[in-house]
Amino acid sequence: MDIYAGPVFDMARTQFHRIADHLDIPLDERDRLLYPKRAITVACPIHRDDGKTAVFQGYRVQHHLTLGPTKGGTRFSPSVDIGEVGALAVWMSWKCALAGLPYGGAKGGITVDPHALSRRELEALSRRYMQEMIPFVGPHTDVMAPDMGTNEQVMAWFMDTYSMYQGQTVTEIVTGKPIATGGTLGRKEATGRGVAYLAERAAQRIGLKLAGATAVVQGFGNVGSIAAASLAERGVTLIGVSDHTACYVDRRGMDVAALLKHVGERGVLAGFSNELSADPTELLATPCDILVPAAVERVIDAAVAARLQCRVLAEAANGPTTPDADEVLDQRKDIFVLPDILCNAGGVIVSYFEWIQDLQQFFWDEAEVNDRLYRVLQRAFVGVLDRAAREGVSHRTAAMAIGVAKVRDAKVARGLFP
Ligand code: NAD
Repeated sequence: MDIYAGPVFDMARTQFHRIADHLDIPLDERDRLLYPKRAITVACPIHRDDGKTAVFQGYRVQHHLTLGPTKGGTRFSPSVDIGEVGALAVWMSWKCALAGLPYGGAKGGITVDPHALSRRELEALSRRYMQEMIPFVGPHTDVMAPDMGTNEQVMAWFMDTYSMYQGQTVTEIVTGKPIATGGTLGRKEATGRGVAYLAERAAQRIGLKLAGATAVVQGFGNVGSIAAASLAERGVTLIGVSDHTACYVDRRGMDVAALLKHVGERGVLAGFSNELSADPTELLATPCDILVPAAVERVIDAAVAARLQCRVLAEAANGPTTPDADEVLDQRKDIFVLPDILCNAGGVIVSYFEWIQDLQQFFWDEAEVNDRLYRVLQRAFVGVLDRAAREGVSHRTAAMAIGVAKVRDAKVARGLFP
């Protein structure tokens, strides 16, 4: 299984073996649980605007089909490789199982900087990628969604391309679509809203009042910006924020609406302010009540973990904390960790709602979407905290143990074919 070798999959493997040890899973059962069922790599050629041809590498990894179709986002980023996509697919499986969704995990992506493409090139690449994936995906096989570098528009192009080949409209092939094309109300906001909802639950547990509390958010894309706005609605003051172009800190508090407007117009944080510019490498160590990493994986290693000065670590990104950092956090009792597979599960939960609405062609209002979202998150949150207390383990170990055990139980009950 060396195809996945690399720092991100190594991290997923280390985490898995820690959980497998905790659950006493025999060694000979582990590879079947850990290694993805299928990995697809494709070459996606497009015409560039200058008339030349360029080829981009695309991937899709489907972890397991034991509980239903696989489900997972699509990432367009220069960092994408088969190991990163494989790790994200594995994490997605534990996340879906923890939330009680009938899915295995999947992830896909293209190694490309989407900001370096024109809109026409981006559309061509999105359509070609989906066309290459048609033999391997389907509403009951593998359902795609957005992730870093993709958005509602890319999902609309995916859905249209798949539908054109089927000769009929198949809205349920992707989630995170625009409302006009069968998307659900509340999906775009779901991950960030879920992060803020769980941060509030965590704050209640440690006796922290959100009105007047402070937050720092790393990454100001879909998840980070909505998380910041949802925390602000709860009275939290944003004192630090960054994206890949800029980092700002202002202990007096920042105007979240002005940041959202700026990013809405320019696409990035750069240019928002000269006076507030700060060192991005120091952002995570800024003293605050709620720290929200909402960008890329592995930003909190052991050294960073030792320097954190927050009370709640709300992991909105996938895999922001390395296993070494977990050892440090396990020793520190002053930080309440909301592990990624719990903290950012709002996205896939509302994607699940979108999929069932599309399958039934029966659509809910936003209040119903949000109410059901919060109920699923609350159940998962209580489940994780109860298990952590009962077994004397960290929130991450408890969350992953619930997810891994559910997948394992289903595999054991179904047996091994043939
Ligand atoms: P996005 O592309 O909308 O935004 C990503 C943001 O991170 C951008 O602001 C970008 O500038 C910033 N960024 C990238 N590299 C950075 C760096 N090195 N330092 C600081 N900022 C950096 O992506 P998104 O959908 O918001 O996803 C963010 C994270 O949340 C990812 O880890 C993703 O896997 C995870 N996630 C997303 C969803 C979802 O519904 N979109 C669901 C669950 C988890």
